[in-house]
Amino acid sequence: MDVLVDGHEIELRYMEKPRIKNAYLRFSGDVLVVTAKNSRKAEQIISENRNWIEKHYRSIKESARLFDTNSMMFGGGRLIALLDRSAMRSVEMNKDVIIFHAKDEDSAERLADRWLAERSMLLMSGIANSIANEKGIAFNGIKMCRGSRWGSCSSRKELRFNRYMCMVPVKLAEYVAAHELAHTIELNHSAAFWKEVCRLCPEYRSLRRELKRYDSYRRRVFRKLE
Ligand SMILES: [Zn+2]
Repeated sequence: MDVLVDGHEIELRYMEKPRIKNAYLRFSGDVLVVTAKNSRKAEQIISENRNWIEKHYRSIKESARLFDTNSMMFGGGRLIALLDRSAMRSVEMNKDVIIFHAKDEDSAERLADRWLAERSMLLMSGIANSIANEKGIAFNGIKMCRGSRWGSCSSRKELRFNRYMCMVPVKLAEYVAAHELAHTIELNHSAAFWKEVCRLCPEYRSLRRELKRYDSYRRRVFRKLE
């Protein structure tokens, strides 16, 4: 069972469920998950939905990477990322170009990481405070975190947001803030929780779906200026 899109073989996860009648397709990140009664049914649904698979896979590939060869996402747009070898350490952003002045690539990556965390902190504290003030919610401070989650909220109502939050479109950052603020009222993901999310961010359903497209963001590559 191979699925090729633009010469790339898509990673497949096949889940055999003998009890089900039909077969289902979905993407988890860039992995195509096929749930079917047997492999014949799985192959059938793949061949019948080739157009859907190609379209979705391309859109996942286009939008998912926050860091890519020579470019970096910021606010949902793409910046050309350049490394300027220099003794000083600073970041310069000019329209659609971002230049990291640093002595080498490792040092530039650390610089980029810290710069993104600072920008994310500014962004998320602005958004969280404005939603909290407008909707009458209290929380106990904000921290930036590493790892694969976009955000979390402790039982002490401390909010944590991913240090790469400023890279995705602002409306997605607003959804993440609303989600974590709703956890200050309901710590679980119950119906009452989603009702609170809806009060804070009425468009949350589509935004949540869109955010899933940005789940892989670990690589970063600079084009070097000599
Ligand atoms: Zn949650």
